[in-house]
Amino acid sequence: MNRMAGCINDHLKRYGGLAAGREDEQKRYFAEKRLYALQIETTDACQQGCIFCYAGSTPREHHGLTSDEIRGLLRDAAALEIRAIDWLGGDPLVRPDWYELMQYARSLGLVNNVWTSGLPLKSKEVAARVHEVSEGGFVSVHVDSITPEVYAKLHRGGNPHFIEAIVEGVDNLLALGKPADMMINCITYTSLQGPEDAIKTMRWWFCEKGLRTCLTMFNPAGMGAEWRSLEPQLDEVQRVYTERDRIDYGGDNISIAAMDTDKYYCGTMATVTFTGDVTPCSVIREGVANIRTTPFRDIVARHLDTLVHAALHDVQNLPNPCNDCVNNAHCWGCRASAYHYSGDADGLDPKCWLIRTALTSDSFSVNNNLQKSTDEEIGLKP
Ligand code: SF4
Ligand code: SF4
Repeated sequence: MNRMAGCINDHLKRYGGLAAGREDEQKRYFAEKRLYALQIETTDACQQGCIFCYAGSTPREHHGLTSDEIRGLLRDAAALEIRAIDWLGGDPLVRPDWYELMQYARSLGLVNNVWTSGLPLKSKEVAARVHEVSEGGFVSVHVDSITPEVYAKLHRGGNPHFIEAIVEGVDNLLALGKPADMMINCITYTSLQGPEDAIKTMRWWFCEKGLRTCLTMFNPAGMGAEWRSLEPQLDEVQRVYTERDRIDYGGDNISIAAMDTDKYYCGTMATVTFTGDVTPCSVIREGVANIRTTPFRDIVARHLDTLVHAALHDVQNLPNPCNDCVNNAHCWGCRASAYHYSGDADGLDPKCWLIRTALTSDSFSVNNNLQKSTDEEIGLKP
């Protein structure tokens, strides 16, 4: 426990904005209701075999964007003054042209954030290239559980040696000088894993390697649609996400609830899937249009408000009780969970435990008032 406290004190507090060092710029984009980051799913191929994968990834590619399509997206992104490309898959590092594409993005002034399974980083040569092209950006790996038996349950093929391979890849990047603060481990939280193991895994990454956790709520999307039984219940969500807040953000009672990032990332980002669909988030698979029939820039011009949830950028437009929540400076609920669990991407996130409290008792406003006082004391609220 003491060691944990030491780990927390050694790290800066952020609220999941994923724009390290550029938070003010990202907040300005949020205020202007513009795109700051573009997630590009370049391929659906991935070696890891998560049973609930949103992208439905398998080791062999079935869908992917062409190099020309991706280069066109990068040029459009630069023209729109988008600042960061989040490379998603599948695993973006299994594409043969990933390095050239990320170099091209850099030549256009874009920052590369790499969301990989982590398995390719075991190669020192791949790790060195990733280190080079992700300068100024972050690298995310994906280890749902550090416990081999739990990991085996969550992955097709159940190969627990993958844990060691990914940890070796992270060590390769750390040895090259990639700051731990610019790396993340992702967990997709499911009831099959359970809270104890998720908490153990988050603590392990933070204390052993200095990596925070991007804790994504399981949603019945992609392959996950066949695994509805993995939907976590509210009590365990509260337990796991409260501990995530404490580990990642230092236990100052500010929460981003069941979101995996803060609203500044979530509200300035769009996704192009490996089939060309343009969506507000990779966990929402249904697109507003497709780049294979409409140029990306035209799609953004027509659908920007839907993509960034523009109405919700004004706090008074948040649904009740988010509009009166002490956390709404950072949080507006996971839009993907709102979409999948209640059918409205701009509605309430039913996985936020504070909403249950608010809807069933008076304690929400009591807790809120108590927390507001604390925030005023530490200068988070005027
Ligand atoms: S009530 Fe809304 S703003 Fe507050 S923590 Fe929950 S989802 Fe976030
Ligand atoms: S909608 Fe949910 S999963 Fe998507 S970026 Fe926002 S918090 Fe993350």
